[in-house]
Amino acid sequence: MPTAGAHLKPTAISQYVLKVHGRCDLACDHCYVYQHADQSWRVKPRSLSVATADIAARRIAEHAAEHRLPQVSVILHGGEPLLVGQDAMRGILSALAARIAPVARLDVRLHTNGVRLDERWCELFDEYAVRVGVSLDGDRAANDLHRRHADGRSSHDQVLQALDLLRQPQFRHLFAGILCTIDLANDPVAVYRALLAQRPPRLDFLLPHATWDDPPRRPAGRPHPYADWLLEVYRCWIRDQRPVPVRLFDSVLAAAHGRPSWTEAIGLDPVDLLVIDTDGSWEQADSMKTAFDGAPATGMSVHSHAVDDAAAHPGVAARRGGLAALCASCQACPVVRICGGGLYAHRYRSGKGFDNPSTYCTDLMEFIGQLTASPAEVFTLPSEQPPRLRHELPAGTLEAMAAGPGDVAVVTALAQARLSVTRMLVAAVGTAPHGRGDPELAAAAADGWALLCELDAANPGAVAEVLGHPYAYAWAIRCLSPPPDADAELDRAHLAGLAAAAAVRAGETTELPLPVRGGLIHLPSLGALEAGTSQDRTVRVSVAAGRAATQDGNTWQAVRRAAGPAFRVAVEDLDPFRDCQQWPATGRLSGPEWLAWTQGMAAADRRLTKLAPEYAQVLTAGLRCVVPLRPAAVGTRSATTRQAFGAVAIALPAHPGELDELLLHEFQHTKLYGLCEFYELFDRADARRIRVPWRADPRPVEGVLHGTYAHLALAQLSQRRGAVGHTAWLRYRDWVLGACEALWEAKALTAEGQRFVAGMLAAVDASRDEQR
Ligand code: SF4
Ligand code: SF4
Repeated sequence: MPTAGAHLKPTAISQYVLKVHGRCDLACDHCYVYQHADQSWRVKPRSLSVATADIAARRIAEHAAEHRLPQVSVILHGGEPLLVGQDAMRGILSALAARIAPVARLDVRLHTNGVRLDERWCELFDEYAVRVGVSLDGDRAANDLHRRHADGRSSHDQVLQALDLLRQPQFRHLFAGILCTIDLANDPVAVYRALLAQRPPRLDFLLPHATWDDPPRRPAGRPHPYADWLLEVYRCWIRDQRPVPVRLFDSVLAAAHGRPSWTEAIGLDPVDLLVIDTDGSWEQADSMKTAFDGAPATGMSVHSHAVDDAAAHPGVAARRGGLAALCASCQACPVVRICGGGLYAHRYRSGKGFDNPSTYCTDLMEFIGQLTASPAEVFTLPSEQPPRLRHELPAGTLEAMAAGPGDVAVVTALAQARLSVTRMLVAAVGTAPHGRGDPELAAAAADGWALLCELDAANPGAVAEVLGHPYAYAWAIRCLSPPPDADAELDRAHLAGLAAAAAVRAGETTELPLPVRGGLIHLPSLGALEAGTSQDRTVRVSVAAGRAATQDGNTWQAVRRAAGPAFRVAVEDLDPFRDCQQWPATGRLSGPEWLAWTQGMAAADRRLTKLAPEYAQVLTAGLRCVVPLRPAAVGTRSATTRQAFGAVAIALPAHPGELDELLLHEFQHTKLYGLCEFYELFDRADARRIRVPWRADPRPVEGVLHGTYAHLALAQLSQRRGAVGHTAWLRYRDWVLGACEALWEAKALTAEGQRFVAGMLAAVDASRDEQR
């Protein structure tokens, strides 16, 4: 065995896998515990005793105190951990809590096959705040391929029942996610869809454990079939707008941007994990069981050795050696900082130990290459290396946003992050296979995509201006997930409009066909040419000297901007994809209507700058357009959509002060949508509904958070209005307090969500102090 890391000093260990039971009630034929090289389970006790668990907990607590660890994670594992029985499990959980919780935040998880999970187990896990992950390999056919009982019976129904239980409102907060082991025999998209249908809060895909001695199955002529499998899932996931975090994908993208990955299978981060087996022996990662018999052993035990002793074991230390501990091929590899040489166990070859690239090297190279740096086949504009799916937000962002207005730096960063995602989606539209029903529209789309790529290389700022328009994202989503009534070819041809708008902004001279929609030829973010009486589906448009024109000199309608002392916001009454809120948008505003809007916006700008300057600043930084809505019969009307960051939709209210409130209210939604791209404030798959003070019908968790955040802004604005705003302030304050309490009681929030809600509570409290 290589000893590259043997010279390393032990460092702190904060994650522990605690084997609470060594046998299983399933007999999966791909199981690395029983079916792979290491057979040490045969001589280990069946169960972890409470006494040994207590000693292990003491060792962990001592280590955490000595190294001042803020958090310790313990993953209860097996075999099948539920086989330990409820009494012993309670004893183990109680020992962990008693020893570790006084010195560090204790995060306990359990990984189960789901067969035995019932309400009693969930109640126990609720008591000890244990989050539960479940193994499922896809739909029934996929799962039955391996995950069967010893007598051949399927486990699928039992696992689905367990997942059903974890989705129940009273247990939903315990659901940690689903773990799926890949099998090439299974259709990747069907597997992904089946897992998504279980509404997990998180997914992960695992490569089946393998070594150079016992390599993964690879069909002839397919050099990287596992990468191909994963990339199919990845494309679906992107098209679905990343509906759930996927640990493997997120880890690759995080590592690509120099951030820690969330799995030891990816990246060069030091591995910070030890295993404690049922006899109390310290072991290396479970995946080592695939290498050779006895591979995970350290020869140490919690009965005789401290954590530092086990962490200093050469095999453990080798996994913390970073780049220097990798073989020469990996050290020279262009993607090594992302790949990290793959999972340690997957590098094993008899005679050479672990001093090799991963046996999945070709798959890792392809998968990482495609995800991070490929040209257009995988959703990146050709000039983009790599796509910046992940942006950094300034330190303290969550707290700054929770306080109400947030700040300009955060709002700017959120807009840039949205632009990155929009670029990726636009590229997905540009490179997607498409129909050839209408050659004119197909040509417009193809010419538009080609021009957009050229401009992106030559003048990326101009392309960014156009793709940064809020409705570029909404258009791309519509193309990738078309509604039943969509004219897909016409929608896709909008690529030409985007390209023409970018060419105008870049000052280029060019000519291309643009689609005609509703009598207009759109150059999004700039305006539209009237198509006149032409019945053609496309019209040739020339771009020169910063303007667009047709041969027939068609009339130009410009996007108009309402400029106040601070705001410079487009009143967007032209964009063909702006009508994606729940209320209908107006058509082109008449002269008097436009005048009312521009005067209203200027007055709102002046009032907000005076009364709530911190809100005015973020509106100035982040609000790109207001879409006029058709007025409601009674009262005000406004909306925001997740699909248009930087846009709000409002029916111009009759009373001047109401526009201030609507702008603030809706822009809070925009900011929160953006923030949720970075933070998991709540479990997105949680389908529960919660009662709120401002509506009769219970709302989904996301809706409650949004409403609370919007009302916080209104509470703060009302407070600034003094005596005039006192009644409104009382109302909004009570709404914020009531909703925060309901969210808290429902246990509907993640740790980040709790911080956010605590911040809102503090902010509304502070407004109470000011009111006094
Ligand atoms: S459920 Fe897990 S531990 Fe049990 S046999 Fe299957 S893979 Fe192995
Ligand atoms: S892709 Fe292959 S060579 Fe490159 S770091 Fe990963 S395992 Fe090593």
